[in-house]
Amino acid sequence: MKIVIVGGVAAGMSAATRLRRLSEDAQIVVLEAGDHVSFANCGLPYYAGGVIEDRDALLLQTPQSLAARFRLDVRVRHRVTGVDAAAHTVTVRDLATGQESVESYDRLVLSPGARPIVPPAPGMERALVLRDVADVDRIVAAIDGAPASAGAAPTADAARSAVVIGGGFVGVEVAENLVHRGLDVTLVELADQVLAPLDPEMAIRVRHELEANGVHVRTSTQVAALGPDTASLAAADGSPRGDVPADLVIAAIGVRPDVELAVLAGAQVGPRGGILVDEDLRTTVPDVYAVGDAATKRDALAATGAEDATLIPLANLANRHGRHVADVILGRRTGMRPSMGTAVVGVFGLTAASAGRNEKRLRAEGRPYRAIHTHPAQHAGYYPGASQMALKLLVDPETDQILGAQGVGRDGVDKRIDVLATAIAGGLTASDLADLELAYAPAYGSAKDPVNMLGYVADNLRAGETRSVQWHELDELVAQGATVVDVRTPGEHARGTVEVAAGDALGEDSALPALNVPLDELRDRAAAEIPAGAPVVVHCQVGQRGHTAARLLTQLGYDVRNLDGGYLTWRDGTAARRAAHADDLATSEA
Ligand code: FAD
Repeated sequence: MKIVIVGGVAAGMSAATRLRRLSEDAQIVVLEAGDHVSFANCGLPYYAGGVIEDRDALLLQTPQSLAARFRLDVRVRHRVTGVDAAAHTVTVRDLATGQESVESYDRLVLSPGARPIVPPAPGMERALVLRDVADVDRIVAAIDGAPASAGAAPTADAARSAVVIGGGFVGVEVAENLVHRGLDVTLVELADQVLAPLDPEMAIRVRHELEANGVHVRTSTQVAALGPDTASLAAADGSPRGDVPADLVIAAIGVRPDVELAVLAGAQVGPRGGILVDEDLRTTVPDVYAVGDAATKRDALAATGAEDATLIPLANLANRHGRHVADVILGRRTGMRPSMGTAVVGVFGLTAASAGRNEKRLRAEGRPYRAIHTHPAQHAGYYPGASQMALKLLVDPETDQILGAQGVGRDGVDKRIDVLATAIAGGLTASDLADLELAYAPAYGSAKDPVNMLGYVADNLRAGETRSVQWHELDELVAQGATVVDVRTPGEHARGTVEVAAGDALGEDSALPALNVPLDELRDRAAAEIPAGAPVVVHCQVGQRGHTAARLLTQLGYDVRNLDGGYLTWRDGTAARRAAHADDLATSEA
């Protein structure tokens, strides 16, 4: 059997090597338009930043090494320009000579990836993108003021300032790495927060980390035009937001699946713009498969009966696609597992990670959910180096299914999100997390691991032992007459407490601090100080003492809710709201 693979990086090369491991007889041809196969695109930002010093470290294989080990026929600088599905042939242009040839296939695997999107605006021709090694060479040359390649003309000056357009995973990685190279960096994001997969009260920590490291973060903002060394910013409605220095501009607003060849082959494109494939990665054209960023994935968390073709441009999935398609072609396996989109990013000293749905999306889909926020340390608090993270779990209140998880913190976030992603994939319920047996020693975790703690909270909520209120629901509850009680110590209360908008309740535009009754005094003081007959919201720092207080007051006859995630989640949520509002104010003042 002759298998032709278009695109020789993550998905394509995984398919090729797996095919060879399974079959010594198959003829395998890999056609790659770029100069390199099997390079580490995920490492590109770190090479730009000098964290990865050796450019060769990005180049994981060469056509020669692949021929030697896998007897693959790998041709770089060969672009496939056409597909004749009826004849089972592709047209190939040798980019070095310009010559065209025709290559036959028994099975064709399309793995052309996705192209970076460059937003339309005057002057945007000078914006660079970051997809492959040639792109990173151009960026490094611009930073250094050096020629981009041997023989090329030197660029004018070393860049001192940069605008990164797009605050997604790649955008924040690029921003950080440009700071490492000493540039003055502005990160411009059209949404009102960075890192869209996170909810705002989680993403605000990433914004603060970027700002603490000198990145100017401009959310609810777009680039309206580029001058020779500036970028003119504007709000979403076009109102001006001033100019910022921009010797270097990098567009990182996302990618668009490369469906060109699939369309030429007559294959159907899915609703979100990827090449439509079934659960075995077959396109709608016989003997043509599509894998990786170019192809649709099946959404593991789609509601029953909802469209489940989605796009998730991540390396793990591209590699899994490559392996699966090889198995399918050689008749070994069928039925690829659906995908949930587990992702992680480092932002200076912080890690942010997520899996599955976020709250924004569940709300937009009109699906019922329960949110749980916790702020555990990554390991035993008494062991040196303990630091707090923020975790969030989203749960279906009817079935207890885990719908999504998010985490932001200095250490231990990746481990928790990976456990939670595994739990989602394995179909564990949120309450099941309480019973997971996870490795523990003081330097690594807690006897009650943060994942177990999420399970305890989920189980208490499911069983109705406690009720919670979210940070963004508090004002409304207070407007309905609820009393907010801070059960922390007076010292903690004095350092910062929940303030509720009192406008609706009192007819004034003011903010009231919560009533402070420390947990250990609650039994004695409740009757005298907490009004009966109206709802009570208790809060502590992270929600744990609040839970004990809620249980106590419930048993005293109060109608109680615990503020989910405590003061910290409320503080982060209101900070996110304020940051979004400040962006709007910046527009009206510009
Ligand atoms: P690609 O890896 O893009 O490979 C497609 C190849 O096909 C390209 O080399 C292209 O030249 C070639 N091609 C296209 N058309 C033709 C044609 N007509 N003829 C011949 N060849 C063609 N994902 C993560 O999970 N974690 C990360 O940390 C992460 N970081 C990233 C950082 C950056 C800067 C980038 C760009 C991506 C990152 N990703 C990350 C995403 C990840 O790299 C992709 O999901 C993955 O590479 C997709 O694999 P693919 O094989 O589908 O496409």
